[in-house]
Amino acid sequence: MTDLKSLSCKELEHLVRERGLPAFRGRQLFKWLWQKGIHSFDEITEFSVALRAELSKDYRIYHLEQAKRLDSSDGTIKWAYKLKDGLIIEAVLIPEKDHTTLCVSTQAGCAMGCAFCLTGKMGFYRNLAPSEIAGQVLAAVQDLPPEQQPRNLVFMGMGEPLANFNNLITAIEILTCDLGLNFSQRRITVSTSGIAPKIVELGERTSVGLAVSLHATNNTQRDRLMPINRSYPIETLLEACRSFRLPPRRRITFEYLLLKGINDTREDAQRLARLLKAIPSKINLIPFNQSAGLPFREPDRNSVLDFQKILKDRNYTVIIRKSKGRDIKAACGQLFYQQQNSEDTALTGY
Ligand code: SAH
Ligand code: SF4
Repeated sequence: MTDLKSLSCKELEHLVRERGLPAFRGRQLFKWLWQKGIHSFDEITEFSVALRAELSKDYRIYHLEQAKRLDSSDGTIKWAYKLKDGLIIEAVLIPEKDHTTLCVSTQAGCAMGCAFCLTGKMGFYRNLAPSEIAGQVLAAVQDLPPEQQPRNLVFMGMGEPLANFNNLITAIEILTCDLGLNFSQRRITVSTSGIAPKIVELGERTSVGLAVSLHATNNTQRDRLMPINRSYPIETLLEACRSFRLPPRRRITFEYLLLKGINDTREDAQRLARLLKAIPSKINLIPFNQSAGLPFREPDRNSVLDFQKILKDRNYTVIIRKSKGRDIKAACGQLFYQQQNSEDTALTGY
């Protein structure tokens, strides 16, 4: 049965018109789903009892079940949601100085197999439906008081967003619709490990921000850390970045994970500066988050500062990303579950 929360407002209008109803019914329905957050058709008091019954026969309203909420001592919040097939996904609220940012998942697990990432170690289970992607935002909005409402959204949770492209686009349409949660495209960022052709398409279909997980400055190194590099090597990836249609005055964020003794040398910093020369960019340095079972180490504070200085001296904007929510395993690359695909899915992430 069609899951109505996986449809954009336009698609809902189309669906009701096909049933012989006026298009405004579709817009009303969208509002009830995404502004009021209803769970059943009976709640739509604007519709006749007959219409509600008719709709409930053919369609479903899907909502995420909160399996757990963890609050970190630094204000970070991690939610685990249980999907209807028992899989668990996570969303994380990150407090910043004057606003909060919500980080959402696009897949259960991830197929990209990056060597430093726990989500990658889980393997891939399935793509999330638009209702499951946008549903994480609705669930967080409903769970938070006004002063903690997310201003920014980042698609940086579990999964590779551009490997679930169509559902990602529909979720963005849902989240930015003014009849729903009304997020601004400018406040949304999609992070990718580098599926080059989809980067260009993302720029054509949306005006969201782009973050690229680069993490290495030559192909030998990047091939080892991120298997996707064998399909789209650094030159191809950066060519796609140059073709990405950037809104005026915007820049691409390059994420660079610092792994001790692997990619944190002065030569790496110099090469990185050369690689990004012709691209309007800002750089986020992410010191590796130590995780059990992964053969990497966190770099020394001094080498991180050195790395930053080399880039700053070449006029780049460089931020060292502070790790938040480590005590609740909510930091980058720490989202992990041993999925069992059954009712008693193990919450081993806790
Ligand atoms: N799949 C997308 C988005 C999710 S990963 C991507 O790869 O961009 C979000 C970010 O966390 C990426 O930049 C990723 O490289 C980073 N990350 C993964 N494992 C990490 C770890 N152990 N320590 C710090 N950052 C990590
Ligand atoms: Fe997947 Fe991103 Fe983790 Fe790589 S870093 S395995 S693409 S979630």
